[in-house]
Amino acid sequence: MAAVHVGVVKETAAGERRVALTPDAVPRVGAAGVEVLVESGAGASAWFPDEDYAQAGATVVDADTVYSRADVLLCVNQPPRVRDGQAVIGLLAPLLNPTGMAELATRNITAISLDGLPRTLTRAQGMDALTSQTNIAGYKAVLLAADTFERFFPLLITAAGTSKPAAVLVLGAGVAGLQAIGTARRLGAVVSAYDVRPQSKGEVESLGGRFVELKSVEAGAGEGGYARALSPDEQAAQAAELAEHIARHDVVITTAQVPGRRPPLMVTADTVKSMRAGSVIVDMAASDLGGNVEISQPGATIVTNNGVTVIGAGNLPAQMPTSASNAYARNISALLLHLLADGELHIDLDDEIQRGVVITHGGSVVQPATAKLLEASP
Ligand code: NAD
Repeated sequence: MAAVHVGVVKETAAGERRVALTPDAVPRVGAAGVEVLVESGAGASAWFPDEDYAQAGATVVDADTVYSRADVLLCVNQPPRVRDGQAVIGLLAPLLNPTGMAELATRNITAISLDGLPRTLTRAQGMDALTSQTNIAGYKAVLLAADTFERFFPLLITAAGTSKPAAVLVLGAGVAGLQAIGTARRLGAVVSAYDVRPQSKGEVESLGGRFVELKSVEAGAGEGGYARALSPDEQAAQAAELAEHIARHDVVITTAQVPGRRPPLMVTADTVKSMRAGSVIVDMAASDLGGNVEISQPGATIVTNNGVTVIGAGNLPAQMPTSASNAYARNISALLLHLLADGELHIDLDDEIQRGVVITHGGSVVQPATAKLLEASP
């Protein structure tokens, strides 16, 4: 039986420096009878040279060869081309692009997206790329904030005087938020955090953060352990009550998301006006749909008239491409190994993991959440 050929493509999205498979993962998938083809230069911007892939047992080829010979393409973002009948595994964001998925289905492409993974399944945790990448983003967001904030994070007592520790507020204490709290604490800041999910209080406190309780919004979790969506009135009340806390902090990191919806607005333009000059906000939820901060723009840094720097985070994991690629490669290779049976890609929609990640197969959109969005669209 011919081995499955897996192709690792060079990412083409602007600013993307990650690569889907790192050299250390090549022997792991090779042991399952997979032949790995790597597009020349695919790992270069994450500091993985072609020679390391070749030494690990991969074949380094040009782009045309990867696209024409691979049975399965491994990527971070959806590649610019996919051959009819080919399979592609990456972070394809199907819920943001259901019609794009439908188009892949008509071309008999099997699209597999790591962001559809059922994250609470213990056996899926090694494949959880959303967690591995968001964790890196939470770390990087604090480093960006610390670099921009023009005072010390830690308490410093020197002959030249005493410097108070920075007061950091983290809004949203999920994967990114908890990493942000831990990182800011390690830099010596005094950290407070808020989340609408009731279980987050204990998690924040276990990292040495102070949990902010709001009176205006009842805590609550929604489907799958994620945050429930707040009504517009609740959101307004939440933003108003948060405003007092925000004004007392030097650095605010916002990470709040609700799957499949516009991120909740938590920091209004007026609240930003109430902050002290020199304060810094990093909006990790900044997106074209809007973010947690009314005036943030994705990938852009704004300095307001009152001297507050508002950083709309872009693709933060791509700014730490070596660690991000290493973690992503472990996730994607674990998923690939799960999908292989007798040396072939074996699609089985009765499997709980596959039901979440397989978006298109056999000419149809098979993932329920994406199919539902398509039905609802005109
Ligand atoms: P996320 O990126 O969807 O959201 C980030 C945080 O924002 C969440 O904690 C959410 O509660 C919070 N949030 C959303 N709207 C808010 C609002 N209006 N006000 C305040 N906070 C708000 O979530 P995530 O970080 O990917 O994970 C969320 C949950 O899933 C967490 O409980 C996490 O531990 C859990 N999770 C579990 C596993 C696992 O079991 N293996 C893996 C990953 C995540």
